[in-house]
Amino acid sequence: MKKCVVIGSGLGGLSTGVILAKNGYEVTILEQAHQIGGCLQCFEREGVKYETGMHFIGSMDDGQVLSNYLNYLEIKDKIKLSRLNPEAYDVISLDGERFAIPNGREAFIEKLSARFPSQRENLKRYCDLVHQVASLSPYRDLEGSSEALTDNSLLFRSIDNVLEQTVTDPLLRKVLLGNISLYAAVRGITPFSTHAFIFDFYNNGAFRIVGGSDTIAQALTAVLNSHGGRVLTRQKVTKIAVEDKVAKGVLTENGEFYPADLVISDINPKHLLEMVDDKVFNRAYQSRIQEMRDTASVFSLYLRFKDESMPYYNSNFYGFRVDTPWDVTGKVDGTWPQGYLYMHYCHEDNPRFAQSAVILSYMSMDAVKQWEGTSVGHRGSDYEQFKKDMAERLISLVEKDFPGLRDSIADINTATPLTYRDYTLTPNGSMYGLAKNVQMGVAGSILPKTKVPNLLLAGQSVNAHGMLGVLVGSMKVCAQLIGEQELRRQVIAANSKSSSCKNIAK
Ligand SMILES: Cc1cc2nc3c(=O)[nH]c(=O)nc-3n(C[C@H](O)[C@H](O)[C@H](O)COP(=O)(O)OP(=O)(O)OC[C@H]3O[C@@H](n4cnc5c(N)ncnc54)[C@H](O)[C@@H]3O)c2cc1C
Repeated sequence: MKKCVVIGSGLGGLSTGVILAKNGYEVTILEQAHQIGGCLQCFEREGVKYETGMHFIGSMDDGQVLSNYLNYLEIKDKIKLSRLNPEAYDVISLDGERFAIPNGREAFIEKLSARFPSQRENLKRYCDLVHQVASLSPYRDLEGSSEALTDNSLLFRSIDNVLEQTVTDPLLRKVLLGNISLYAAVRGITPFSTHAFIFDFYNNGAFRIVGGSDTIAQALTAVLNSHGGRVLTRQKVTKIAVEDKVAKGVLTENGEFYPADLVISDINPKHLLEMVDDKVFNRAYQSRIQEMRDTASVFSLYLRFKDESMPYYNSNFYGFRVDTPWDVTGKVDGTWPQGYLYMHYCHEDNPRFAQSAVILSYMSMDAVKQWEGTSVGHRGSDYEQFKKDMAERLISLVEKDFPGLRDSIADINTATPLTYRDYTLTPNGSMYGLAKNVQMGVAGSILPKTKVPNLLLAGQSVNAHGMLGVLVGSMKVCAQLIGEQELRRQVIAANSKSSSCKNIAK
């Protein structure tokens, strides 16, 4: 049996581990933290649970793309979902007006055309472009019937460029960008495809995870175990041993050596470079990765509500105090916070009242630079005061959209870019890993293959971030080993067993 060591137990590491274990590899996943899951981790205070990263997922109706993958990974039935309001899964608040985004192409076009009648045809063109780009992934449509992309340049154009040429009403363009924090886009840099994948993913149906995103990590670990694999926590990998261009195994901080026939990295590629001798990768590859931007970091405010004081809000709410979503920077000056995303957690099926919520607002690492040399729990009272001040500012802004919010709050917790940096070891506390950049052309993407044939890369920096982006990345990695056709065959077979899969079962 071939030994595979995976570095990191985030969604990318766990899903790659499960696929390889199902295909006969002996998989060991090494996780530096005491908890598995990376951005799937949750924490609990006073009996209430909070998600730290992933908050909602999409395309989970029977036969839809994520549903098919979770069936293949054997976890679909183990995760409980709660559908966000199909009439308004997202609500964007801009220029003193609220715009509800409904599920489904037709409903979306109807709703926004009612408000922007001159844009009906443009909205149809926008949906066509989104659909074309989203259909491009070789793993989205397993029957291989995706329409060919009529305009290849779409892959190398930025979001603002495509939107400006498709939608002529400036306010509508801002509305379409309202969920920008889900992909931390930068004007002139982030590809339209990043926007298209996210829009398509959620517009097909959006869901909260009942009981928290860590249930996904636990379910994947149980499947891994059932196929003979294991996850070991508190095992920080510090070195990958490479001899004659072949990875021989990994060394951990505790001094243990794990021999391997295959090493998969689920960690940020910048950190991976630090784990191999300088000569393993050529200079050009190293500089390309080092020069890639990190996606934005975030300040998270976790709220616990007083019992039965806050009616459950079944939409995601995006609020802005700046003219356009592009202007939300995360720089902490007198204008912070410039925008936010507010979401209730779903602790049971159809709750009447929310127990807890999260408010996210970009924050740059510079804002917490003075504490960068400190560790969790030892950052000092001035840091605690900083967090209190930021929480206060954020609550004051959100209260303008949700009057009475403050009175419902029983307790707060906060996380800064340093928290993300220290819990998931992501450079600069970046939310979504390395940023895609149209200005770099094809050099702006990192491939799963490396110069070391048995060292492969998974995780959000490689294909794309988020639930689907990371899983498609895992499929791409495993395709290198198992073959793309065989992997597709396996996913189709797993779904044809499930009577629920209408789309691909034949
Ligand atoms: C605030 C926030 C909100 C989000 N919301 C959503 C959402 O609503 N929906 C959605 O689809 N996506 C969301 N995402 C994105 C999504 O959560 C991530 O893209 C995805 O979970 C990343 O998985 P990963 O495996 O690539 O990386 P990670 O989750 O970062 O996992 C990497 C793992 O590697 C471990 N590690 C690092 N270095 C080492 C080492 N040296 N040795 C051993 N282990 C190591 C880390 O501890 C970590 O567990 C959100 C992310 C954030 C931060």
